[in-house]
Amino acid sequence: MTKKYVYLFQEGNATMRALLGGKGANLAEMTNLGLPVPPGLTISTEACNDYFAAGGQLPAGLTEELRQRLQELEANSGKTFGGAENPLLVSVRSGAQISMPGMMDTILNLGLNDVTKAALAAATDNPRFACDCYRRFIQMFGDVAMGIPHALFEKILNSVKEKAGKTADADLTAAELEEIIAAYQALYLEKTGRAFPQDPYEQLILAVEAVFRSWNSERAIVYRQLNAIPDDLGTAVNVQSMVFGNMGENSGTGVAFTRNPSTGEHKLYGEFLYNAQGEDVVAGIRTPLPIARMAEGLPEAFRRFTEITQILEESYRDMQDIEFTVENGRLFILQTRNGKRTAAAAVKVAVDLVREGRISKEEALLRVDPAQIEQLLHPSIDPAAKVEAIATGLNASPGTGVGHFYLTAEAVKEHSAMGEKVILVRDETTPNDIHGMYVAEGMLTCRGGMTSHAAVVARGMGKAAVCGCSSLKIDMEKRQISFGDTVLNEGDVISIDGSTGRVIVGAVPTVRFSLDAEFAQLLSWADEAASMQVRANADTPEDSQRARELGAQGIGLVRTEHMFMPQDRLPVVRRMIMAETEEARDAALAELLPMQESDFYAILKVMDGLPVTIRLLDPPLHEFLPNPRDVLVELTTLKCTGGDAAEIARLEELLRHIDELSEHNPMMGHRGCRLAITNPSIYAMQVRAICQAAARLTKEGFHPVPEIEFPLICHVNEIRFLRLMAEEIAAKVREESGVDFVYSIGTMIELPRAAVTADEIAEYADFFSFGTNDLTQTSFGFSRDDAEGKFLPAYLERKVLPADPFVNMDPVGLTRLIRLAAEGGRGTKASLQLGICGEHGGDPASIALCQELGLDFVSCSPMRVPVARLAAAQAAVKAAQN
Ligand code: ADP
Ligand code: MG
Ligand code: MG
Repeated sequence: MTKKYVYLFQEGNATMRALLGGKGANLAEMTNLGLPVPPGLTISTEACNDYFAAGGQLPAGLTEELRQRLQELEANSGKTFGGAENPLLVSVRSGAQISMPGMMDTILNLGLNDVTKAALAAATDNPRFACDCYRRFIQMFGDVAMGIPHALFEKILNSVKEKAGKTADADLTAAELEEIIAAYQALYLEKTGRAFPQDPYEQLILAVEAVFRSWNSERAIVYRQLNAIPDDLGTAVNVQSMVFGNMGENSGTGVAFTRNPSTGEHKLYGEFLYNAQGEDVVAGIRTPLPIARMAEGLPEAFRRFTEITQILEESYRDMQDIEFTVENGRLFILQTRNGKRTAAAAVKVAVDLVREGRISKEEALLRVDPAQIEQLLHPSIDPAAKVEAIATGLNASPGTGVGHFYLTAEAVKEHSAMGEKVILVRDETTPNDIHGMYVAEGMLTCRGGMTSHAAVVARGMGKAAVCGCSSLKIDMEKRQISFGDTVLNEGDVISIDGSTGRVIVGAVPTVRFSLDAEFAQLLSWADEAASMQVRANADTPEDSQRARELGAQGIGLVRTEHMFMPQDRLPVVRRMIMAETEEARDAALAELLPMQESDFYAILKVMDGLPVTIRLLDPPLHEFLPNPRDVLVELTTLKCTGGDAAEIARLEELLRHIDELSEHNPMMGHRGCRLAITNPSIYAMQVRAICQAAARLTKEGFHPVPEIEFPLICHVNEIRFLRLMAEEIAAKVREESGVDFVYSIGTMIELPRAAVTADEIAEYADFFSFGTNDLTQTSFGFSRDDAEGKFLPAYLERKVLPADPFVNMDPVGLTRLIRLAAEGGRGTKASLQLGICGEHGGDPASIALCQELGLDFVSCSPMRVPVARLAAAQAAVKAAQN
């Protein structure tokens, strides 16, 4: 038995995408819905795969089967393929299961030859039309199927036009077109060594083979790689009888969406061209008319079309993108598919379809891509504006920043305080620039990559950043920047587009997407559907406020070290670090206490009623001291110029402390809870500040829910010791204040030993928050900065690792560690709260893993909260479906 490869449209349906391709399956579906689809057939993807399996040979029986089924097509249409009277012409169209722009272009008017051209001329009483179809066909066939360069055909066309003194194709006469046809045929013979095929079956077979071959064309392969589409799907071939929109003013062709694909508005949206064929609408030769104008000249066809758009939407339960043609007043539908849309439209269409009763809330949640949502939350350049970039760097953090640029964090801060919108421009940023970055609209740097300080911090803050802009030169002396010959003075206005890496001189107009009614609706359905909470990582009341507005259900990580960085605090912090005596240290800590209390007070107040996980000081202390190289330079300069002796002594002292604190491997050095084991007073101060803030708020009638978190625990004894200390302080503050505030105590799980001994640790923890950034570093033994800068790209390129484990949570190793820790921890304490913080908390794929692991929350940067809410909902809906 030979395989069945050929399916008439009436034999298929929408569910047969794998076999018939998307286009074929939808043509079949529409045929069976009784819609006016020109009859046709589909050669299956299986035939394509068998063609390649046989080393580029058409599978046995296919040619015969095709011939037979074409006869049915002839019978259906009352025309004959290659007939000298009423010739059947067809289009040959590729169509894979997943729509692929890299595939073959469509060939129209196949079946024309010297004889059928004459027949077509007679049947339509329009020789010019017939000649035009024929010359288009030879050109498309020669180019698309036989690979003869398009330009050679254009050259012939142009030379005939020139000779005739004509500019538009449409002005060519039948005789001139005949001349072109003859020249085309000569070109064909010259390039292929064979005469242009007159046998329509031969034309058809050659075209079918060309479609098959296009599956393995360079651009199709690249497209599949980029979009992770398997190579073994194959493409189907659709052979469909032609209809002609180019038969005069009573004909035309168009493309329409059932809803507006940019806004989602429920209104027919599209374009129409009278007297045109195929791609003319998109080719830009003539300006198409808005679809509504079709009602003027072709009212009946328009009415029928509107009706059909509704039938199609109802049947597919989604917005449709429809291609159609009108031949002498008769409407034909040539294609339908789910329409591509902007994120804004995706949200509106999904919500509207639920309101219209077409789809369920769960389906609506699955219809919107969380990654697409993210782009929307950042301001972007108004698409209507014309902008010219002066330079391009790395698109390090999405969004658009417009403002006056300044070259230091101090200047940025100063001008921001004066009410200016500001941009920070630096060679590269360091933690010392944080206060400037907070107030800036965006950052622009000459050096540094996608994981440089500026990039990571900007993404965390949800600000625009363009990094590694190598054509940018900074002159600190003159306080100027330049791009080639263009010189700008500090304070001038620039715009940066962190989504594309563009830098623009002057202000570009921006548009900001907000949580409009539909989006808020979708996200509230998301919260209903989700089983995990979404929290945010935020270090300031402003970020916390923004997170809350974006729907965060708590703060999963407050990094307290950022509170030690501001210029008015750093000197106190340094005094504390360098204190030689107990008293000196306590004095510095006493100064820091009210500052920290006010920090925690403000965040807990903004987050009233919601949990706030506060991580005590984590980095090694030398991070708060100046760079030793800078100090050394200053010291040497002073010594050489005979500077002030007291200042020299101070700098020498500073350098000694820096040396003392310097470490071989800071990542694994004296940091996290280890700081508190050697010197409990810093954590004691922080715990007291948290408790006092909670007591004050409680007294004022608020409901603060602080969660005290110890970082970098690796042994149960560490947390036992620290918990005891914290409880004592809390008890003391309760006594002093007379307020019974609530609090809990927990730890980050970011070391493998902590994960495997979680059962022991859980005895002293009310919650675990998996610090997946560090847990990835420590479980792989990769330091992130070194890995991403040096070897990780090679690992990814050579597929040693399937994905960047810092972006997508390692689904094997890391999840095993987390599962072990979760089971161990909950075995000891059933009420233990589990979550993750770190960049993975905003990654939809990682969020899906957290769902499988049964975690209680994920925490991500404020701007990603909506993304995470949607992703968490999708994970829950999918879990329920399985
Ligand atoms: P694409 O995937 O690029 O949309 P298509 O196969 O849909 O390619 O066809 C390209 C163009 O040719 C479209 O404008 C389509 O409407 C037109 N076309 C395809 N088949 C026919 C046909 N049988 N009659 C008239 N026009 C056709
Ligand atoms: Mg199409
Ligand atoms: Mg850590």
